[in-house]
This record gives sequence, structure tokens and C-alpha cells, in this order.
Amino acid sequence: MTRRPFNFSAGPAALPEEVLQQVAREMLDWHGSGMSVMEMSHRGKEFIAICEQAEADLRELLAVPSHFRILFMQGGGLAENAIVPLNLSRGGQVDFVVTGSWSRKSAQEARRYADVHIAADASLSGAGAIPSPASWTLRPGTSYVHLCSNETIDGLEFHALPDLRALGCDAPLVIDFSSHVLSRPVDWSRVGLAFGGAQKNIGPAGLTLVIVREDLLGRALPICPSAFDYKTVAEAQSMYNTPPTFSIYVAGLVFQWLKRFEYGGQRGLAAIEQRNLDKATLLYDALDRSAVFENRVARECRSRMNVPFFLRGAHDTPALHQAFLDEARDRQLLQLKGHKSVGGMRASIYNAMSLDGVHALVDFLKDFETRHG
Ligand code: PMP
Repeated sequence: MTRRPFNFSAGPAALPEEVLQQVAREMLDWHGSGMSVMEMSHRGKEFIAICEQAEADLRELLAVPSHFRILFMQGGGLAENAIVPLNLSRGGQVDFVVTGSWSRKSAQEARRYADVHIAADASLSGAGAIPSPASWTLRPGTSYVHLCSNETIDGLEFHALPDLRALGCDAPLVIDFSSHVLSRPVDWSRVGLAFGGAQKNIGPAGLTLVIVREDLLGRALPICPSAFDYKTVAEAQSMYNTPPTFSIYVAGLVFQWLKRFEYGGQRGLAAIEQRNLDKATLLYDALDRSAVFENRVARECRSRMNVPFFLRGAHDTPALHQAFLDEARDRQLLQLKGHKSVGGMRASIYNAMSLDGVHALVDFLKDFETRHG
């Protein structure tokens, strides 16, 4: 088979080819069951085995402590913006750290259920940087503090999670880790709840991952739909209603792929993190050296996963922008258009993107610059 194009989509995003091939092989008859996974009862022994294995592999990969529950839900990141306050706000105060489009959206949605306060806002500094935790104005009575640990559109990433206790705040930290989940370890000692849509680093859209500290279960407001009450979902082992079975199955295959992934003499999450670092370094170095392209995020908070870039100064014309995207597509470099709210270009280089893919992009950037610079 000829090589597939390199796909830089921000999500739904490229999946490991090995996984797609396995899905194809198992499509009509999963392990001699005579059924596609899509056709199985979620309460049958086959699917329960698939689901339990996926959960166990995820727990191992992310080193999730035993006092956290892993929930497989639906509704995506945006539904969690409502589901989290419905479960954790007690209708009271919640504090948000706004570092870009997704955390801003989360804060807006939470206003429907809680008294929202913006404890910090990256856009006010104008520096393309995450405000230092010491400057956050956290309220003593807040029920939780929300942040987006990787801003998919703006390209900002928290490289360390804040220690809220050291800031004098006892409230749990909620993180939206949709776009960098499984790209690096999570410091669970600093987290109360993490959520993320699957369609970037985990698998097909439709599955939403929630990892929640057990003591936070059972706090839902009476208006919270039962299917979205974390306690109900946890007690039913994510089977309160029909879960997104096919997405869970593919996610499970991605977890197994990650467990056997080797790079730089390492294996598993450590290996993928090292490759992610190498890919990001390669791409940012090329952008920083370029006279035509630029990334505008402060170095210490640049995302390893989502790299927005723009044409510099006089090069920034609609015609050159379109020429870039057209030529990229001709070179089999797909979905490099920036998010419509910020324009420019964006390369999302999630776990499934190979080093070869980033080399191909960097070669193209240099070639484009030679011809158009
Ligand atoms: N949060 C982040 C960080 C995201 O990147 C996205 C989707 N790009 C969302 C939330 C929204 O996710 P969904 O479309 O699954 O609701």
C-alpha cells in the first residue's frame, strides 16, 4: 500500500494506521464472535471484556490512582462544560482560568449553573502566555477551579499543573485535557477531575473520558440529568445507558498500541512523550528560524500538540495563505488551515503523527520559503 497522507487535523484527528488496520480486520467478525463490535450488546460478555480491558489499560498508561474513577461518557468536551458544574458547583462559586477559546467557552457555559469568576485571563496580558498562578484571584468559597490544560486553538499548554493548595485554595482542580490527553503523564496529586473528548489522542468521536476523584461523586444538583450524574455513571461502570461502544473499542486498541509503542529506548507513555517533544522541537525550531512563518505563543507555554502559525508581516496576504494550503495539499500534507477564529495555519501533531510527518512539514515550510520568501 502507498503511504497515506500526513493528516494535521485538530480533531477528529489521525489515528495510528496499525489500529485502523486492526479495526478493518476485525470489522465483520470480532475474535470469532460472528459479530462486529458495533453489533454487540453492551451488556454481553464480549463487550464487557473489551470495556474492562480498555479501562485497565488506560489506568495503567496514565497511572490513575485507585481513588479515581474512570468514566466513559458521551457529549464531548462541550457537554462537560455543563456536566461539570451540574456535578461539582453545588450551585455556588466556581473559578476559571481563561487561557484561550476553550476555557473561555467553559466559563460561559458554567454561568448557567453557577456563580462564575474569572481568576485570570491570558488575553488581558496580550503576551500569548499563561498568567502565573501566583497572580490568580481565587475565591475562598469556590467549589472548583477550572482550566484547559492544552488550548487547541490558541496553542498554549500547561507544562506543569498548578498546586492549588500552595496557593491557599482547597478546592479541586478541574482540567479539560481533551487535546493533550495521553501525550504526557498527569500529576494526579493536583487534579480533582479531568475530562476530554476522544477524537484527538484517544479514538473516534463519541466517547468522552472523565477521570474523577471518588470523593467528588454524589454532589450533583437535583436538576442534573441522571445519565450525566458522575455517581450514577460510576456505580453502573459506565453502563447506566448504552455507552459509545465502537468508540470505546477503538480507544482500547489505541491504548494497546500506546502500551507497546517504543521510541528512544523507552516504551509506552514515556516513549510517546519523548517523540512528542522531539516533534514539537523540530517544528518550533523551523518556525523560529523562518523569515516567512511565525508562532506567536510565549516559548514556555507552547503546546506540544497544536502549533498555530502565521505568515509574517508583509507575507501575510490571503493569496499566499491560500497558496500555502493548496501546495501543502498537493504534497499530501492535509488539514493545515488554522481555526476560523484566529486564521493562519495550524499543525496538530498528536500522538499518531510520526516524526516523518513533521519532517515532511518542515521540509515543505523551508521549500515554500525559498520560493515565496
Ligand atoms: N475542549 C477542548 C480543549 C477542545 O479542543 C475541544 C474540541 N476541539 C472541546 C473542548 C470541545 O469538544 P467537543 O467538540 O467534543 O464537544
